[in-house]
Amino acid sequence: MPGPTMLGVAGWPVGHSRSPRMFAPALAAAGLDWRYVHLPLAPERFVATARVLGASGYRGINVTLPHKEAAHDLADELSPAAAAIGAVNTLTYGDGAIHGDNTDAGGFLDALGADPAGWRCLVIGAGGSARAVVWALREAGGEVAVWNRTAARAAALAADLGVGQAAEPFAADLLVNCTSVGLDQAVEPGEAAAAVGLAGLEPPAVLFDLTYGAGPTPLCRWAEAGGARAVDGAEMLVRQGARSFERWTGRPADLDAMRAGFRA
Ligand code: NAP
Repeated sequence: MPGPTMLGVAGWPVGHSRSPRMFAPALAAAGLDWRYVHLPLAPERFVATARVLGASGYRGINVTLPHKEAAHDLADELSPAAAAIGAVNTLTYGDGAIHGDNTDAGGFLDALGADPAGWRCLVIGAGGSARAVVWALREAGGEVAVWNRTAARAAALAADLGVGQAAEPFAADLLVNCTSVGLDQAVEPGEAAAAVGLAGLEPPAVLFDLTYGAGPTPLCRWAEAGGARAVDGAEMLVRQGARSFERWTGRPADLDAMRAGFRA
C-alpha cells in the first residue's frame, strides 16, 4: 500500500521553519491524510534530491534559503512570477514535469489586503524578497521605486525589473521594508527607522514590514505612532503558504487554521 502523499519545506538550515506547523492543521481541515515535513538539504545535495522527490511520493515542496535560485534553475516549467523574479519557492511534481512558482509575490499582495494600483510605493532593500515585492507591486499597477543602503544593488534590481531607483527614501503611499532591520524586537522604533533611512520622514499611509516577531515590529510601531496602517511579515508567510497549498491540493486553504498553526 502506498504511503501518504508527501509535502515538505527544503532549506539549509530549515529546522526553524514553521511551515509544517502551518500546513498540518490546513491539511486536516481539508480532510487530507497528507504529511508535510522538514527537508534539511545541504546545497550540494539539493538539486539531485529535489529532482527525484516526485517519484518518492511528493506532490510538492516549499523552497527556502539558500535554494530558491537553484529551484528556479531545475524546474522544467516556470510561472510568470518565478521567471521574472528568478527565484522559486514552490515546486510541484506531476505529469513527469517539475513546475516552479513564486508564491511570495502573490502572498505579499494577499497580505497587503488592498489594491496598490496607482500608489507611490517605496521598497527598501535589494535582496531576494525585494525582487518578489517589486515585481508584485509593478504587476499590480503600483508606481515603484527601490532604495537600498548599497545603491548599486538597488540600481541593478531597478534596471532588471523596469522600476525607479530612489536617490533617498521619501514619504510614499506604501513603504515596504525588505531588509532584515527590525528582526530584533528590542530595537527602538526610531532607531529601526533611521537604519533604513526613514529618520525625519512622515510615515506612509501603509507600512509593510516583511520581518515579524512575537509582537509588533519596531518599524510597525514607528509607522503606527505616525498614524499609518502597519502589516508585518507573518501574514505574508501564511498567504504564500496558502497559495502553495492551493496549487498542490486544488482546494482552498483554511487561512485561520494556517494562522493558528503558524502562531502555535
Ligand atoms: P537578503 O537577500 O539577504 O537581503 C537583505 C537586504 O537587507 C539587503 O538589501 C541588505 O542591504 C539589507 N540590510 C541588511 N542589513 C541591513 C542594515 N543593517 N541596514 C540596512 N539594510 C540592511 O534577504 P531577503 O531574503 O530579501 O530577506 C529580507 C528580510 O525579509 C529578512 O528579514 C527575511 O526574514 C524577510 N522575509 C520575510 C518573508 C515573509 O514571508 N514574511 C519572505 C521573505 C523574506 P545591502 O544590499 O546593503 O547589504
